Amino acid sequence: MDKIEILKTLPTPCYVIDEEALIRNLSVLHSVEEKTGCHILLAQKAFSSYCVYPLISQYISGTTSSGLFEARLAHEEMGNRQVHVFSPAYKDEEFDELLKICDHIVFNSFSQWKYFRNKALSHPEIEFGLRINPEYSEIETDIYNPCFTNSRLGITLSNFEEEQLDGISGLHFHTMCEQGADVLERTIKVVEEKFGKYLYNMKWLNFGGGHHISKPDYDIDKLIQLVNYIKNKYDIQVYIEPGEAVAIDAGFLVTSVLDLTKNNMNLGILDTSAACHMPDVLEMPYRPFIIGSKEAGVLPYTYRFGGPTCLAGDIIGDYSFSFPLNIGDKLIFTDMAMYSIVKNNTFNGMPLPSIYLMKADGKIQLVKQFCYDDFKRRV
Ligand SMILES: *Cc1c(COP(=O)(O)O)cnc(C)c1O
Repeated sequence: MDKIEILKTLPTPCYVIDEEALIRNLSVLHSVEEKTGCHILLAQKAFSSYCVYPLISQYISGTTSSGLFEARLAHEEMGNRQVHVFSPAYKDEEFDELLKICDHIVFNSFSQWKYFRNKALSHPEIEFGLRINPEYSEIETDIYNPCFTNSRLGITLSNFEEEQLDGISGLHFHTMCEQGADVLERTIKVVEEKFGKYLYNMKWLNFGGGHHISKPDYDIDKLIQLVNYIKNKYDIQVYIEPGEAVAIDAGFLVTSVLDLTKNNMNLGILDTSAACHMPDVLEMPYRPFIIGSKEAGVLPYTYRFGGPTCLAGDIIGDYSFSFPLNIGDKLIFTDMAMYSIVKNNTFNGMPLPSIYLMKADGKIQLVKQFCYDDFKRRV
């Protein structure tokens, strides 16, 4: 059976992590580490399916986290790889725990640094950094733009307290989203203009995430040049912490058609929900791809798909097919590993999709199954 046939045998709804695709992405990232000596970290915010952390740890240097829970997950599940953390603000109890498990801790402000400095400096084995906001980004959607007006993320040059850098060994910026090495090049230019003078005294610079490194059209040679340029000019290490680039196109969401109705057009109700199982469809927003479909109106049979929740806007999108659909048909959404599993929820009492792993040899493993208690425990 080919991949698609295998996916259609699974009970729905379910996510299926595609090990072969993960390995393809990780190999690209590994080659960047090999060619530059930089360190690449999985941003767990995008993908935290620790069933494949042992695999990921064979290819890249470790993980980054947005707080204690992600850091703990990496510490528990990724063996002896690096654990980094950045949070807009740490709590006291959280910080004490982070000190036990992290290699790098990045602060979002000088006030957080000063607040935790004494505790921090009693841990010489940990490196501490500051997130800067170079006030330059090419992201057009504000919700994903850490440099929009009055952003809380990162320290701007006018708020930079250069007399407080004792104990700080690196700077971190994260200003990109699904972008290429050309955007990185322009960003680095601004970072250097504003903060370059501080880099000579640092041990590292972290380029953040948002680099589409494992996309086929990404200019890897330019990335390698930029990493080497920064490493050599300032004599520092470079870290890159992609989420998407690790898990892009590395998973499916398999769903069944529950009902077919009409209201001026053909409507299909699926056993998966945009709001619950792929919230970025509504937040980003974007139209996820369904295998075998085309844009509305291109093929003879067009349907608008929505979820079985009571939210009027729980609409996934309009799709056309070369054949009419039937109740019970299975549909396969692609690119559902990243920012889907980590963002799902049980709004409306929706069941959570099971999670399967499709091994590189085509074998299927059930990773997780959820039930009524998962809903009940949260409300
Ligand atoms: C979200 C995030 C990342 C990962 O971003 P991707 O777009 O998934 O590559 C990395 N670092 C920080 C600080 C982030 O907030």
